[in-house]
Formats: sequence, structure tokens, C-alpha cells
Amino acid sequence: MENLHIDFKKSLGQNFIFDINLLNAIANDGEVEKTDTVLEIGAGAGTLTNVLCKKAKCVYSFEIDNSLSTYLNKLEKENNNLKIFYQDFLETDISKLNLKDVRVVANIPYYITTPIIFKLAEFKNNFKSILVLIQKEVALRFVAKPKTKDYGITSVCLQSIFDVSITRIVKKENFTPQPKIDSALCKLVPHNKFNLDSFKFFSKFVSACFSMRRKTLINNLKLDYDKQKLILALKKIGFNETVRPEEIDVESFVKLYNFLKN
Ligand code: SAM
Repeated sequence: MENLHIDFKKSLGQNFIFDINLLNAIANDGEVEKTDTVLEIGAGAGTLTNVLCKKAKCVYSFEIDNSLSTYLNKLEKENNNLKIFYQDFLETDISKLNLKDVRVVANIPYYITTPIIFKLAEFKNNFKSILVLIQKEVALRFVAKPKTKDYGITSVCLQSIFDVSITRIVKKENFTPQPKIDSALCKLVPHNKFNLDSFKFFSKFVSACFSMRRKTLINNLKLDYDKQKLILALKKIGFNETVRPEEIDVESFVKLYNFLKN
């Protein structure tokens, strides 16, 4: 790979990985096996794609930058279990891909981390697991627990439908070009622990709850709901009316949402 001539596009989040040991470690953390179909978002020069092709049954990989086809077309010819889609993943209709029991393994473009994860979350039943390399500070928000500074909208939304963990920290020196901050590999495994009918509506509700972090939950929701109903709902889930959003655990948020939507 040393003789690559890539004009890295910062605007597309192009920070590539070439270290084969790290690439293997990522595929291992993704638990990719010979029977698995893998979805990758952001093929880049195809370094991770190549490793995934060796370990999986089949790999679907998205890449928005057509200029990388020089490398990716060659890779596609060498691996008959690989299909590259030269398109914007965010504009892709996932339901048309017919995905089932798929593992997502991807070093995703950081400028659209949240939209990608929330898009995947809406189709969580199609995935066995999702392993994404993201900025460390964002990963810390994904796994954060109540009453900590990182706990917020993404923590509650993602933990309501996934078991979320960090499998390893990846230092910034491992990327080309080198970004300013370290990254973390974050694993999301779908669960059905809570009684949640719509991830989309729940996410909107949670966003409203955290609209002013330092205010009480009642203050944040008072324009959308009757105050007495809010007090009653909070009492039902074991909190008093002065509670702030960051004090409420994920399961209680789901209970609150279910109570208020009726
Ligand atoms: N997988 C490669 C690696 O690990 O070396 C590249 C990872 S790089 C962080 C992210 C890649 O996502 C870039 O190649 C970029 O062009 C691509 N990308 C950016 N926005 C995209 C989008 N909306 N849809 C698909 N790919 C995108």
C-alpha cells in the first residue's frame, strides 16, 4: 500500500488505516466469522475492506468518493465476495438492501457519526452487531452512565436499544493523515430489554427532555405536556418534580415516554 497516491479529502472525513495488525484487531473485535455478511461504511482505500473479505462470507461496502475506485475496483476483482456501492450511505434506502443478521464493521467518517449511527439504529433488528471506529469523546458519550458529564441524548437513545461498550482506544498516530484526537472502537449489540415501540419518536422525546441540560425535566417538557401529568408520571417512575434529565436512567426514560404518550 506504500505506493498509493491519494489526495485525502478532509471534508469527507478521510483518515485511513494501513496497519495490518490494527485492521485485524478491528475485524476480531467485530467478531466477523466465515458465515457473516458484513456492512462497511466508508471503504476508503479498501484496507479494512480487504481484511473483512478474508474473514467474512460477503462484504457490502459503501464509498461516496468515486476517485477511490482505482483501488476499490481492483479489490472487487480480487474478492468475489465483495460488492462496493459508490454512493452516499445516508441517502441509501437500507430496507432495499435486504440485510439480515448483518455485522457492521466500519471506520466511519467522523463528520457524520451521529446520523450514521441513528440511521443504523432504526434498522437495528437487521444487525447482529455494529462495531464503529469513532472519535473517543463521542464514544464516551455513547457509553456514559447517569449523573456523569457525558450522559445525554445519545447515551439514552443508543442504550435504550443496544448494549454499548468500548472495545479499544485507537491512538491518533494510527491514522493517515493524523487527526487531532484519539478514537475508540465502539460496539453496539441490539437488545430488547425495554418496551419501546418507536426508536424515532423516543429519540425526539429524549431530545426534548435534554433541551436545557441544567433545567429540570419538567421545565424542559412543560410546553409539550400538562404539568400535573408530568408530576404524576415522574412520581410513578420514582422521581420527584425537581429531577434533572441527567439524573434519570435509561429504563426510566423509556417508562416515562410510554406513560406520557398515552
Ligand atoms: N475504511 C477506510 C480505512 O479504515 O482506512 C476509510 C475510513 S475513512 C475514516 C471514511 C471513509 O468514508 C472515507 O473514505 C470517505 O470518503 C467515506 N465517506 C464519507 N462520507 C461518506 C458517505 N456519506 N457515504 C459513504 N462513504 C462516505
